[in-house]
Amino acid sequence: MLSTIDDATLTKVATAMGEEEAVQLVEHLKNIGETTDDEIANKTGIRLNLVRKILYKLYDHSLVSLRRTRDPKTGWFIFHWKLQADQLEGFILSQKRRVLDKLNVRLEYEKNHDFYYCNTLGCERVPFEEAVELVFQCSTCGKPLSHCGNEYLVEKLSEKVDQLRQELGE
Ligand SMILES: [Zn+2]
Repeated sequence: MLSTIDDATLTKVATAMGEEEAVQLVEHLKNIGETTDDEIANKTGIRLNLVRKILYKLYDHSLVSLRRTRDPKTGWFIFHWKLQADQLEGFILSQKRRVLDKLNVRLEYEKNHDFYYCNTLGCERVPFEEAVELVFQCSTCGKPLSHCGNEYLVEKLSEKVDQLRQELGE
């Protein structure tokens, strides 16, 4: 049915929804095609209100489609959900793009600042401008602030940025 989508993609999509159960739900949808929220809850054991919450999140990103019918007996609406296979790839790309933008901002910040640190666990580095204001004394623990290289971090960030750029075909 949706066999062209690999599991890694599905897992990434589901993880982006921020609920552990989303992975299970998306896999179930992949295998079953169109189904109702009741059926998903019954088959997967995920609580119905959580099933709905995840489905609406997926719907917000156009990753599932929704069809509504009326139950002839009760007159209530029944919601039928289906995974939108063609949207998944695009969703992953836009997620990557967002991560890349954030990493670029961080990388520029790291490149353009000199940092100072008191070498105390739990305390934070401060940029040079702030260290001057603090007269090179940590505002948390009171110890002296000394220069702290960020070459390793810059290198790691650059690697990640390059990797994402490649994946995005830039
Ligand atoms: Zn400190």
